[in-house]
Amino acid sequence: MAHLKEHGASGAAQDAPCASGRRRWLSGAAGLLGGLAATAALPAVAQSGTASPAMPIFDAHLHYSHDAWERLPPKDAVALMRRAGLRRAMVSSSSDDGTQKLHAEAPDMVLPVLRPYRTRGEIGTWLRDQTVIAHLEARLARHRYVAIGEYHVSGEDADLPVVRRVVQMARERKLALHSHSDADAVERQFKQDPGARILWAHSGFDTPSNVRAMLRRHRNLWCDLAFRSDHAIVDGQRGQVEPGWREAFLEFPDRFMVGTDTFTPERWFYVVEHAQWSRMWLADLPREVAEAIAWRNGDRLFSQAWAAGLR
Ligand SMILES: [Zn+2]
Repeated sequence: MAHLKEHGASGAAQDAPCASGRRRWLSGAAGLLGGLAATAALPAVAQSGTASPAMPIFDAHLHYSHDAWERLPPKDAVALMRRAGLRRAMVSSSSDDGTQKLHAEAPDMVLPVLRPYRTRGEIGTWLRDQTVIAHLEARLARHRYVAIGEYHVSGEDADLPVVRRVVQMARERKLALHSHSDADAVERQFKQDPGARILWAHSGFDTPSNVRAMLRRHRNLWCDLAFRSDHAIVDGQRGQVEPGWREAFLEFPDRFMVGTDTFTPERWFYVVEHAQWSRMWLADLPREVAEAIAWRNGDRLFSQAWAAGLR
């Protein structure tokens, strides 16, 4: 709960994934662009990308919110995604219009996820805002999605009526939930619907041993590794997996996914860097496990269901 309250009252900081300071890998990429130099900087980023990415990446955690699309048009965002060698990406946005714009530009790559937030400012208020339900229902009637999220909820707030209704809506429509939560809120959502499929954003910023305990308890729980770096130690061109996380990946190779988390517009310029960094540390795992985490898990869970619905 505490970390949600640490966010500022407004602005980009509100959408920061967590105030826990896991920014280590960012320091390595910090020289990339410094700030948002808008589309003028795009070619430089593109050139720094690998010419032919070795391993496809399923990016499970992208946002394309209003300030992002204002500065980085859909065509340029998709160019970055292709340059990064993304096979598919799960995209949710405040508002959902961003997701729809990106999906229209690259229907082969973008898997739409429905965010409850209409603007950035709703990260801490949506839980008690009944109008969120009508918003979600209207969107669900109009568009297709693979999941509802990413939303922020911790502890007993997961039992508030609005959150309960969201869990219900996902069950009715066979959608997954992309939940930025502590373990307690994940447990509460599974209690509401034992059949729910939950993608646990940032693996809850929890320790590998706690994550493993959760994965043992819930077979419908998957974890993204977005905006955390503690699982990988990258030294120059060599990446290594942290031992505690290695055990988690080897015990549950089919439950993890990577993600960039573009929670501010400038984070879009890390999509390429993040894909390269992911390939680097994944290379320290057995090939099969690396491929599973890089893209096969996301593909199996989301892309295939999406494609089946199109038939
Ligand atoms: Zn996020």
